[in-house]
Amino acid sequence: MIVGGGPAGATAAILLARSGRAVTLIERNAVATDKVCGDFLSVDAIAAVTALGVDLPALAPSPITTVRLVHGKRSATTRLPFAAVGVTRRALDAALLRQAEASGAVVLRGAPVRTIAQGNGSLKIDCGPMGRLVASTVFLATGKHDLRGIMRPARDTGLVGLKMYYTLAPVQQAALRHHVELVLFTGGYAGLQLVEADKAVLCMLVPAARLRAANGRWDDLLDSLKGECPHLGDRLSEAKPLLQRPLAIAGLPYGYLHAHAVDDLAGVFRLGDQATVIASLTGDGVALALASATLATDMWLKADNATAAYHDVWARRVRRQMRLASLAHRVCLAPAAQPWVLRACQELPWLMSLLASLTRMPGWQGR
Ligand SMILES: Cc1cc2nc3c(=O)[nH]c(=O)nc-3n(C[C@H](O)[C@H](O)[C@H](O)COP(=O)(O)OP(=O)(O)OC[C@H]3O[C@@H](n4cnc5c(N)ncnc54)[C@H](O)[C@@H]3O)c2cc1C
Repeated sequence: MIVGGGPAGATAAILLARSGRAVTLIERNAVATDKVCGDFLSVDAIAAVTALGVDLPALAPSPITTVRLVHGKRSATTRLPFAAVGVTRRALDAALLRQAEASGAVVLRGAPVRTIAQGNGSLKIDCGPMGRLVASTVFLATGKHDLRGIMRPARDTGLVGLKMYYTLAPVQQAALRHHVELVLFTGGYAGLQLVEADKAVLCMLVPAARLRAANGRWDDLLDSLKGECPHLGDRLSEAKPLLQRPLAIAGLPYGYLHAHAVDDLAGVFRLGDQATVIASLTGDGVALALASATLATDMWLKADNATAAYHDVWARRVRRQMRLASLAHRVCLAPAAQPWVLRACQELPWLMSLLASLTRMPGWQGR
């Protein structure tokens, strides 16, 4: 049984179904939706998605070759050391779930799981009005959402994630093409890039206090950010928002890396954000989701309920990447450090390239 149909859950479903196992995936949303995510897909995620049989070019993603760091009126630009694309999570997640069904997995949509509990040597899954299911193994892939009774430890960083799609003015669209832009502002940062159909995605982390100061109003918050970052003002001049209101998420436990504990429910494999929450500025969360699902299903197929071993191996594999990402995240959030970060990246643009390399999944160079 797999709970959650994002990249992690869909990957597990594809791999288990391909191995001839009976697998059911439960996804709470009835249809594909937009998600709070920068929509940046880097080399390691591209390789994994392609290996799963998803025809990525058919989703018409927007190629990204260059990163631009912006703070105040200054910017630093350098080429990324790997291929990347911008593709909406709505399109990517739907393609992965279609692939899971085509591989033979049963996908139940519109079914929110409420709780998972241990009982008589099996796991009991409460699906609300859909009733109760029983499984020997659960791959937990609910992403940013915790299930009652099986929560990740609280670790709220006081940041709110916000996302909006835009049609940019033609001159701004042309200037953004092939770039991912990381804009630093007081206490937060924003990512801006193109995705399919030449839409632009703006995804940001803002201190909750700053959102409160704007009375929770998106337009007021944007005005204050544009005042601080003229670059953002330029990019968004004459931009047309494509969603009625921004998507939002709070309580993000950045830096979380699940360590096996004695009170873990036996038979539950944590995947994706349920295992690891990497800093958003790396744009590597989807790659980690795909890789964790690949490792967990591989270990399960070889050794059945090897949950403790899986969580240990996973933590060892990503610990260095996670530490570096958390350090970069903290430095980029610190108002006193931001001008120095920008200056250093102007003087030594390869620093951005190096950081991008070191925050990929180990082994990406071979792809
Ligand atoms: C602000 C921000 C920007 C980011 N930008 C990027 C980026 O540019 N690139 C990148 O690679 N990563 C990025 N990430 C990280 C990335 O979004 C996650 O790491 C990735 O989505 C994790 O995949 P997942 O499958 O674990 O979870 P999710 O993608 O969150 O999928 C979980 C699924 O489970 C379902 N679900 C939840 N609860 C239940 C339930 N009770 N019952 C049934 N189904 C349930 C949900 O509907 C969802 O479909 C960003 C994250 C944030 C917060």
